[in-house]
Order: sequence, then C-alpha cells, then structure tokens
Amino acid sequence: MIPLFDLHADTLGEMYKKKEALSKNSLHISYESAKKFMPYVQVMAIWSDFRLSNDEAYESFFGALNYARSQGLNFATKQNEIKDRALILAVEDARLLNGDIARLDTLYQSGVRILTLNWRGESIIGGGWDTENGLTTFGKEAITRAFSLGIIPDVSHSSVKTSFEAVELASEQNKPIIASHSNAYGVFNHKRNLTDELFGEIKRLGGLVGVSLVPEHLGKDAYVLSVLDHIYHFLSLGGENTVSLGCDFDGVSSLPHGIKGICDLDVLYFELEKEFGREIARKIFYQNAHNFFQKSF
Ligand SMILES: [Zn+2]
Repeated sequence: MIPLFDLHADTLGEMYKKKEALSKNSLHISYESAKKFMPYVQVMAIWSDFRLSNDEAYESFFGALNYARSQGLNFATKQNEIKDRALILAVEDARLLNGDIARLDTLYQSGVRILTLNWRGESIIGGGWDTENGLTTFGKEAITRAFSLGIIPDVSHSSVKTSFEAVELASEQNKPIIASHSNAYGVFNHKRNLTDELFGEIKRLGGLVGVSLVPEHLGKDAYVLSVLDHIYHFLSLGGENTVSLGCDFDGVSSLPHGIKGICDLDVLYFELEKEFGREIARKIFYQNAHNFFQKSF
C-alpha cells in the first residue's frame, strides 16, 4: 500500500453543497477512490466562500462541519488519532473570525488545527497573494492566539509581506508555520507560488510545504511531470524533510493531464519513486507530514 498524507482538500465544502458522502461520491476524493492508500491522512479545509460575508462564512463553516459530523466523520486532534484513515480539520480564509478572537477558541474546540490566513485580496487578517500588504493588527493577534491554542497558521494564499510577518511571529514564538498547497515560484512565476527565500524560512522553522496539483500554479500545460519539477526545485533547496503534498482536490476546476482525482495519485507516487527513490517518495507522500503532526499535536 502507498501511504498518503495530503495537506489540503476542499472536499467537505463540496460534500455539503452537493449533499454527498465521503465513502462514495462524484468528487475528486472519496474513501472508495482512495482505497489504494493506507495509511491515508487527509487535511479537510472548509473554505470561506468569497461570495459570503465574514459572518456568513463563519456560519457556513459550522453548516459544513455539522454536515460532515452527521455523515459520521471525526477529526483527529491527538497524535494517536493520526493513523489508518484520519481527517484533520482546517479553515481556509481566516476572515471568518471577523475581528472576534474568541471565535478562534471556538474553532479550536470544534477541532480546527490549521488556519489558512488568506484566500485573496484584503481582509480583516491582512493581504492575500494578489496584494502587496501585510498583516493587520487583528491578523497578528489571530496568529499569536493560534500559536498559543495549537492551531497551525498556513500562509498558502498570503502575500509575500503577510507571509514574512507570519514568519517573524513564528520565530518569536519558536513555532512552525506551513504552506499547505503552494508550488515553487522558482519554477513558475505565479504569485501564489513560494519564493526560494520564503521556502527557506518555512524550512528553518520546521514547517511543511505541500505541493499542489493546481494547473495554473504548476505552469503552462501541466502534466504529472510538472509536479515533479516543483518538487525537484524544493528538494534542491534542501527541502527533503519539508516537502509534502497539498493536492487541492475538489478546490480546482481542472487537474494536470493524467490525474482525474485521488484515484490517480499513485501515478505521481511511482514517478517520484523512479526519479528520487523510495525513501524520498515516501517522505513526500507521507512521512514528512506525519513527523510534523506528531510534533505539533
Ligand atoms: Zn486554496
């Protein structure tokens, strides 16, 4: 069996919208289509849809979470729960806090362990990837509170300035941050991708970077091998223990040629094994993220 630990998927939100189950469905991820992978740990993010206000997004988060719970899904909050098949809960776009820091405590109690700070544009948290702006005062407060609660800040959709300010707060607290689904700017210069410098800082802090399957961020005409280019780049920056996967299944309208969903991810695994060997392939597919969450939980 191939072990898999994926740092980002939007499947819960899609399940909620379409009233589908995780066991079997029409989405990129189901347990049926993921049966080649064991252990299989999946970070499930609930997205603050850009069409919703901050308060509506907060309400919608609990709508999606309650739907997931009604489907019998549970979320790992302890080290020993990260095994076999496990889900970890994340929020994508922290603007749903809407200036109320107590909401973060409620989210933590509801099982949230990863907080993607931005999605795009300006928010109550700070500047997203398509802006030049950094964190707001509330954004800094949210990150500090996240660290003290045990929620991991995720700079995947953040601007360069926001990301480096998050790095600074993390350094002060001696805590890691992650970029759950981001590729290498050094390979393809999309603003959602990470510069070598930012990758180096996340690595220095002991964090993780999940390479995504988003065609727009991989480069022109993305194939499975395009994913390898980004991984190769991060490995060349000494990222052997930092690189992971953050596929973004069910968060994208298209995938690289050759991948229709999680069922085809073994193709990527075998390409990695061929190119970098079994040990590195396993680190990227599972072990790096596993080690990280054993320390963070
Ligand atoms: Zn995303």
